[in-house]
Amino acid sequence: MKNFYLLLLVAVFSSFTENKPLGPIQEPPFKEEVYAIKNVNIITMARDHEIIENATIVIKGTKILTINQPIPNNAIVIDAKGKWLIPGLIDMHVHNLADGPYVSYPTRGPAIHFDTQNFMSLYVANGVTTVFELSARAEHIGQRNEIIRGDVIGPRIALASLIDGDNANMTAKTPSDGRQTVRLAKGEGYEFIKVYSQLDKETYKAIIDEAQRQQIKVVGHIPNAFKGTTEEAFVPHFGLVAHAEEFSNQTDTYTDQEAERFAKMSKANGTWLIPNLSNLVYIAKQARSLDSVRNLESFKYVHPLMQSKWITANQYNKGSNPKRISYFDTLVDFHTKIVRAFKKEGVPMLAGTDAGTSGIVWGFSLHSELKLLTDAGLTNKEALASATRLGAEWLQIDDKVGTIEIGKLADMVLLDANPLNDIDNTRKISGVFVNGKWLDKNTIDEMLSEIEKWNKIHQENYNWKELLSNLKNR
Ligand SMILES: [Zn+2]
Repeated sequence: MKNFYLLLLVAVFSSFTENKPLGPIQEPPFKEEVYAIKNVNIITMARDHEIIENATIVIKGTKILTINQPIPNNAIVIDAKGKWLIPGLIDMHVHNLADGPYVSYPTRGPAIHFDTQNFMSLYVANGVTTVFELSARAEHIGQRNEIIRGDVIGPRIALASLIDGDNANMTAKTPSDGRQTVRLAKGEGYEFIKVYSQLDKETYKAIIDEAQRQQIKVVGHIPNAFKGTTEEAFVPHFGLVAHAEEFSNQTDTYTDQEAERFAKMSKANGTWLIPNLSNLVYIAKQARSLDSVRNLESFKYVHPLMQSKWITANQYNKGSNPKRISYFDTLVDFHTKIVRAFKKEGVPMLAGTDAGTSGIVWGFSLHSELKLLTDAGLTNKEALASATRLGAEWLQIDDKVGTIEIGKLADMVLLDANPLNDIDNTRKISGVFVNGKWLDKNTIDEMLSEIEKWNKIHQENYNWKELLSNLKNR
């Protein structure tokens, strides 16, 4: 079977290289527009030169061509006097909506389709130009291709395939299963592996060891099996913890000392952290009242199916009681301690939101996460680095994005005010460059109002509970 696919692949590939003329393939997919932004303050986020005041930056096609050089004649000029330019933002922990779910006989497609543009607009409208999809499936590869082809304006998407001990797309119950799933995920085109909570210890270790052999980085949860022996999970090549919550799941004492112990473990192993403070903060709010979801300013942009799910089937609100609420509050507080301890220990932290879980809206939530990170003790600059340069470094795309430098891809956000003075200024978006494409404030507002309109018209057609019962009867 495997050989058959290999032959098929070879056949397809050689038909490309031998029969098709090279000319059209080499043509750039986009028209090479030239833009110049003048009088702008650039916060480059590069390690050595941070701010270039009152500068001119020229963008050609998808790339940054020059900084403080003459403006080419054919350039479209944007006067940005008093404004601030930062690198495009990176959300390192998202779950994107994609077509599904599937039913069991051939030729029958998914029950629900999502408009990729409407969905991806939420990111670009918020200046989010790269996202890390942490439970990737084939449909996400399709979405990414739509963006790369230029059919959809959206962020760059890094894809991690999730492997768990049970009930996952990829399930591994033994070390040899684990190794096989890593090779399979790599073969299918996923660039990263995400390990999950139900893996047993030996399978988890085998997955990470195989990932190292296959040169594929690993992000994830700390499996529940390690509770009491957390340090055992910190094996070489375990690169990134997906939530601060992973540590609160490993302990029953929520002290500064415990946070420091975890920070030292991570530091010693070279493992970075996505604190993902939003997660528990929003869970605690939802446990109190669903008004916290309904009243979100961005709720109207959430696809109606998810609006319905977040309100009518909210697992955090259901059966909520004071004891549970106070437990969530304890975790919120402990996660702040985790951020402080990791900062003290010098472990790099990356901004990630878990967008897609209830109450956490794609794109919009990254600004909330930045605010929470600064409330927890990061400086505004550190918070910005966590959502730009550092994310790019972990994903190993820092030669192309993450900072504003000549030759890098033009992913940038123009802001009305300086985010180094107040991190909430990342919300004051005047325009966004995504892969060299310029979206000004009007365009962004139009994109958002289109989504709002669509959601209102189609509200009635999407009911989470009905969908579940219909699926059962199909
Ligand atoms: Zn997640």
